[in-house]
Amino acid sequence: MAKRGIITVISAPSGCGKNTVISEVKSLHDDFDYVVSATTREIRGNEREGVDYFYKTEAEFDRLVESGEILEWDTYQNNRYGTLRSQIEEKIKSGKNLMLDLTISGALAVKEAFPDDTVTVFLLPPSLEELRKRLQLRGRESQEQIEKRIETAISDEIPQVYKFDNIIVNDVVSVAGAELLAIIKAEKLKYKRNQEIINELGLKGEN
Ligand code: 5GP
Repeated sequence: MAKRGIITVISAPSGCGKNTVISEVKSLHDDFDYVVSATTREIRGNEREGVDYFYKTEAEFDRLVESGEILEWDTYQNNRYGTLRSQIEEKIKSGKNLMLDLTISGALAVKEAFPDDTVTVFLLPPSLEELRKRLQLRGRESQEQIEKRIETAISDEIPQVYKFDNIIVNDVVSVAGAELLAIIKAEKLKYKRNQEIINELGLKGEN
């Protein structure tokens, strides 16, 4: 039987560079399988159905929730996003490692559903000043929206950091990427995932 895969879940306030760090790790290490969420938001730019998201109407999304096909869902900027149970269960059972980028409540829900398979990581900016600078550089929001995002980070998101297994400060992307890989490697080496080694050596380990 294949060893179960690991679910690495990353959350961060907007502007912390979550996508950049995830891309960095995926480019260094091609050990991750795709996980595609469902969303009610509009398709953007060169995104593709079934690759970036499964794009759903509100009614279709409701049906997925009611049927239990959605493991967890959350609202982000007036759109709903949900993790599809089928995308997770089969894959980890067959030994695939997964990397999910979820809202905070999504990350905690996946951890609750798969406590032994999931490692959660919270990404922080090096300072609030730097976060403001990154949001300004990104150029997607007005100054007022940027201040609102920073306020959300301070009052709502960062106070929940203690619920996560690990934190990484994303100052230099290559360093943050290496730290994320180190977390995943350490998770793979945990005793609970490697008990069979003791048997293979013909020895006994306490459970
Ligand atoms: P975007 O619209 O930029 O693609 O995604 C916005 C945010 O939605 C992402 O930063 C990500 O954290 C969150 N997200 C994407 N898919 C899911 C999901 O399946 N569940 C939850 N809870 N959050 C998601």
